[in-house]
Formats: sequence, structure tokens, C-alpha cells
Amino acid sequence: MPATIVLGTQWGDEGKGKAVDYLADGMDLVVRYQGGNNAGHTVVAEGRLLKLQLIPSGILYPHITPVIADGVVVDPRHLLKELDEVRRTGVEVSRLRLSGNCHLIMPYHLELEKVTQRFLGRNALGTTKRGIGPAYADKAARIGLRVQDLFDERIFREKLEIVLREKNAILTKLYGRLPLEGDAIVEEYLELAGELRPYVTDTSALLHGALRAGRHVMLEGAQGTMLDLDKGTYPFVTSSNPVAGYALASAGIGPKEVERVVGIVKAYVTRVGAGPFPTEDLGEDGERLGVRGQEFGTVTGRKRRCGWFDAVVLRYAARVNGLTELFLTKLDVLSGFERLRICTGYRVDGQTFEDLPPHQSLFHRAEPVYEGIDGWLEEIDDARTFEDLPKGARGYVRRIEELVGVPVSVVSVGPAREQSLPIG
Ligand code: GDP
Repeated sequence: MPATIVLGTQWGDEGKGKAVDYLADGMDLVVRYQGGNNAGHTVVAEGRLLKLQLIPSGILYPHITPVIADGVVVDPRHLLKELDEVRRTGVEVSRLRLSGNCHLIMPYHLELEKVTQRFLGRNALGTTKRGIGPAYADKAARIGLRVQDLFDERIFREKLEIVLREKNAILTKLYGRLPLEGDAIVEEYLELAGELRPYVTDTSALLHGALRAGRHVMLEGAQGTMLDLDKGTYPFVTSSNPVAGYALASAGIGPKEVERVVGIVKAYVTRVGAGPFPTEDLGEDGERLGVRGQEFGTVTGRKRRCGWFDAVVLRYAARVNGLTELFLTKLDVLSGFERLRICTGYRVDGQTFEDLPPHQSLFHRAEPVYEGIDGWLEEIDDARTFEDLPKGARGYVRRIEELVGVPVSVVSVGPAREQSLPIG
């Protein structure tokens, strides 16, 4: 059976939780392939509000095996806490599978992120301070500790000792902090290891076997394409790769397994924190999008920057991910605008770009080229089929398809599952 990759096409917060929940219904395994406990899906289970940051939301379906693949960095303390919260809602969590190749977030990662972000002051990236970036940095530097190391005490101690020598020197000499105690870390992590052991498995072999057995596998990205370490607006990016290609590297399956690549795209654009954002609207319209769309960070409550739909960004996301279809969210937020704007290109220094400019400096100076399109005044959250939508809304969806060259397969008009309108 072919695999499906589902990912965000903008700067995150595209409504992935809702889209993944809708698509998960027909899946047997749901795989998280990058990031750490910084993703944040809000789901309602048994009347309780659950904030899943690391575990794939597939855990809430009894028929789904949730998998955390190699490319995710894991804070074992956080993972066990999250599992406990899910278990307390009455959900069976023993189906979770965790790759032994996942890198561990260690106490010094959290400590170092705190002090280095403070050190950078005004230039700090505004990270979530959960040690995720430092854990990925150590992975690349070949000094990371992995989940499998937890099950060999001698190796764990040895590796930790080597790393701590450097980390403690940085903490004490550069930042004037207290050193971390190796024995205390070993003791804590080995205790956690016992609790983690039942979940740990060779997830690549598991997924390969599942695909051979005709089961449906969904690979779920966190954050969004424009936050990709390589393909995003570096350095205002996350420390891993949300793009489709990385799903394969992380899960350990080949490209021929994948048939569908679903891009989740919000009907307008938002961005959290610093970095270029050509279609940002600092006026009343942007304000209106933010209020109607409730564009405030789930964890921080921080107001998101809002702006018009950007076809250049989506064309880029379609290209670098090989998108085969689009899941368009939050169309209901655009109700009430008589006219809408769609950015079809950029102007930089008198030159027009229909594609993302090849140099970051050009992107920073990019002025959006807009086309106007008729909006619609009525609320659309009651629509149950695509045909129920007013002419303006249908026209808007069709224009996006035309500008990007990828079909929209589902339009979302509200947070509930039934507010998903399949097309065709
Ligand atoms: P994610 O991290 O990509 O899941 O994005 P967010 O954390 O920003 O979640 C999106 C928010 O928008 C959640 O509160 C959803 O319930 C809500 N949402 C998702 N789809 C729609 C939609 O089509 N319309 C509206 N009004 N809200 C939606």
C-alpha cells in the first residue's frame, strides 16, 4: 500500500491538527518524522483538552499505531509525561512505537539553549527553549546520545562523560553557570529507560513490513515548509526538515512507497516571530484575519503576524515537496471581505519574480504583486459540501488551484471534523 505524506506549506499553524485528524481515519500507522516536543496539536478526547506536542495524534484512534521515527528528537521526561496524560483520558498508549535511533534531548541541551538565547539578546531566534535545536546540533556534530544508548549503561556513561566535559566547560567558563552532575543524569535517564523500553523498536522495519502487508501509512510533518532548515527562510527556521524528502530519510522507506503528498495550506498566511513575510498586512485587514482566525500561539499566546494568501510561497512548497493535493484550511475566516487579495508574484528592485527569489536579501525586500478577487459576505461554517459554498468562495479556491497547479482535495470551514468539504 502506498504511503501518504502530510505537511504544512507555509510557516506552520496551517491547521495541521485538524487535517491530520481528518486524514487519519483511513490510516493504520501515523508517523511523526521530525521536530520534538514543540509541535502542539490540540485535540479533544473524552471531553478533555489534550495538547500533544510529541506523540502523533493518531494515538487517539484505537486502530492506529503511532510511530516516532528516527528524525525526531526526544526528551524522555516529556514523552513519558505526555503518555501519562493521554493514558489518564482512558486511551491505551501501549501501541506507540519509538525508534531506537531517535536522538535524546539531554538536560544540558535545555540549560545551554536558555543561556545562549539570553546571550544573543535582541538577535535570539525566540525558540521554544526545550533543547531541540541544541540536540539537533549535537546530532550533526556526532556527539548526540540516542534512545538505544539508554539500554547499554556502559556506553551511555562513556558517551555522556565525553560530552559533559565540553558542555560543562561551556556552561561554567563561558556562561558562569554551575556544572551538571553526570551521575545524577545517568541515574535519572536509566530510570526513564526502563519505562521507555516497551515502546522502542526498529521502526523502519516495522513500516516496511506494514507497507508490504497492504497497510496505510501516513507520515506527518510538524512546523511548515518555510521553516525548513534547508528550504525555509534561514536562519528564521526550525532546526529540522519538515519537507517531504526528509520524511523518507527519517522513516527509513524509499521514495517509491509514497503516492500522495498532501500540503496543508491556510487560506491566508500567518507567521510567528521574526523573519521576512512579504504579504504581511499591518492594517485593519491583517487585524481582522488575526481576530477571526484566532491567530494567537497555542503555547505562548503570542499574536501571530497575518497577511494575504501568497501563491509564490505555495508554488515553492508545491515544488520542493512534490505536492499532489492541497488541504485548504480556515476558508471561513475570509467571510465578510467584499474583495480579497492574492499575491501572485513579487517585485524587487524593478524586477518581477513568480518564483521565490534565489537570494535571501531579495526575499527580504520583496514587495507583493496582488490581484484582486471577489470575496463573499455570508458565513460559510455551515456548508457541508463544496457546492454549498458561495460563488466567491468557490472562485477563490479554484483560483488558488490555477495559480499553483495543484488540486485542492478538501476545504475546511471550521475546526470540527464535519466542517471538511471534500472536492471531486
Ligand atoms: P497546527 O499547529 O497546524 O495544527 O495549527 P494551529 O495550532 O494554529 O491550529 C489551528 C487552529 O485552528 C485550531 O484551533 C483548530 O481547531 C482551528 N482550525 C483548524 N481548521 C480550521 C478551519 O477550517 N476554520 C477555523 N475557523 N478554524 C480551524
